[in-house]
Amino acid sequence: MKPTIDWHARAAALKIDGRPFIGGRRVDSVDGQTISNISPVNGKSLGDVSRGQAADIDAAVRSARAAFDDARWAGQAPAARKRVLQRFAENILAAREELALLETLDMGKPIQYSLSVDVPATARCIAWYAEAVDKIYDEIAPTGPNALALIQREPMGVIGAIVPWNYPMIMSAWKLGPALAAGNSVVLKPSEKSPLTALRLAELAVESGLPEGVFNVVPGFGHEAGEALALHMDVDAVGFTGSTRVGRKMLEYAGRSNLKRVYNELGGKSAFLVFPDFDDLKRAASTVAGAMFFNQGESCNAPSRVLVHESVADEFVRLVAAEAPSYQAADPLNPTTVMGALVDEGQLRTVMSYIDSGKNEGAHAVAGGVQALSETGGFYVQPTIFDGVTSAMKIAREEIFGPVLSVLRFKDEAQAVAMANDSNFGLQASVWSNHIDRAHRVARALRAGTVHVNQYDEDDLTVPFGGYKQSGNGRDKSLHAFDKYTELKTTWLRINP
Ligand code: NAD
Repeated sequence: MKPTIDWHARAAALKIDGRPFIGGRRVDSVDGQTISNISPVNGKSLGDVSRGQAADIDAAVRSARAAFDDARWAGQAPAARKRVLQRFAENILAAREELALLETLDMGKPIQYSLSVDVPATARCIAWYAEAVDKIYDEIAPTGPNALALIQREPMGVIGAIVPWNYPMIMSAWKLGPALAAGNSVVLKPSEKSPLTALRLAELAVESGLPEGVFNVVPGFGHEAGEALALHMDVDAVGFTGSTRVGRKMLEYAGRSNLKRVYNELGGKSAFLVFPDFDDLKRAASTVAGAMFFNQGESCNAPSRVLVHESVADEFVRLVAAEAPSYQAADPLNPTTVMGALVDEGQLRTVMSYIDSGKNEGAHAVAGGVQALSETGGFYVQPTIFDGVTSAMKIAREEIFGPVLSVLRFKDEAQAVAMANDSNFGLQASVWSNHIDRAHRVARALRAGTVHVNQYDEDDLTVPFGGYKQSGNGRDKSLHAFDKYTELKTTWLRINP
């Protein structure tokens, strides 16, 4: 039997290297400034990480451009790129425990999920795009008999990837997989709150045979390193995942610089619609609690708005409140913990202020509503469920990004659809009904990138992920993601009769 891992001992022994990874190696940042990397587990510093500036970004972009221009990666046959990326995926899995510990210490998610979800999903994503890349054929257009028009995909060049802290590795992989497989070079700017796994991924990529300069990572603040990357004149596209507020800036930066492509994957306020004809309210309640409180509610697609028919609402609220004790906030390094710490003190304050606003606006907390484990120095909130929420309340309109579920009531199907669509966001939704016509009717009427019917858990790399409205543009995952990181080139040839 494998001995149990003492994660606390491993955490205590950890020495982090927070320097940028540029041109295939760790380098000192240009001006040596640092950010103290605070762990949300206990509020203590894990060490210093470079505070990358425009000069560091410029060095990374130059390195990425040089790698692209001499075709050391893009010039390799797709099957050769495939083998390197497959090794990369294998090496991610081989470093599973190390990466999982870094992820948990950096952003507070339970170690069991870093191990069982984040690391395998990251490796799977890289392997999936590796597998795809030598199975995509270019096209010949059906033009006239005296011409041949080839439509080919070419890598775009240098991709800037800017990612958030909630799934640091998976969000990086969603950009890296298609961008690298297609032959691009990448400069990745991880969140200042969770830079450690991205830096380690870059080392693993080069150890796997990815040529130097193809994948660079510069840690730092968004308004410094992030802005410099998004404004850089030699970056061809930015794949951004983060808040709608910063997504708006990405479009401005592109307008102020070289009109680079901008792909935004932004926030959400996903609706979970429960109709009275659904015969298993307990399953609906346990599903919404599981999806809402997973990752401490720090998921863009968390089903944070439950819309339930008034005839079954009391019963539903009772059932969902009964789920809350299973999600008590606890030490993320304990292997049985299911809900860990919020990413930092600022996020804790934001979530608590939304909870106060819910109470002040007249909603009623049937579970949680309080901070937890403050004696640890970490940032914890108990799973919170509000009943009596109305569409006008702030907690029903804004993305909270914490473990706070709002329950609203509706009278009929038309009102349910109108309430669900009454949002600036349109990332995901879920419909619970045993009536097949209703399920399809409502799914069609919902303005969201993904609609689940009678479940919320299914997910797969084969399907696109992204939102309508202010939840973003473009799609991560699936073959469609190649559209973001490739240009289509038409080549005409005349064929003389
Ligand atoms: P954020 O927008 O604050 O930061 C995201 C990234 O952008 C970070 O790396 C940050 O440093 C950088 N950044 C911040 N300001 C910047 C600026 N002025 N210029 C350039 N870069 C800047 O978001 P966050 O708090 O890290 O993440 C939470 C958000 O991410 C939520 O809104 C969530 O819904 C969203 N998200 C969306 C998806 C999706 O696929 N749609 C997935 C995960 C998270």
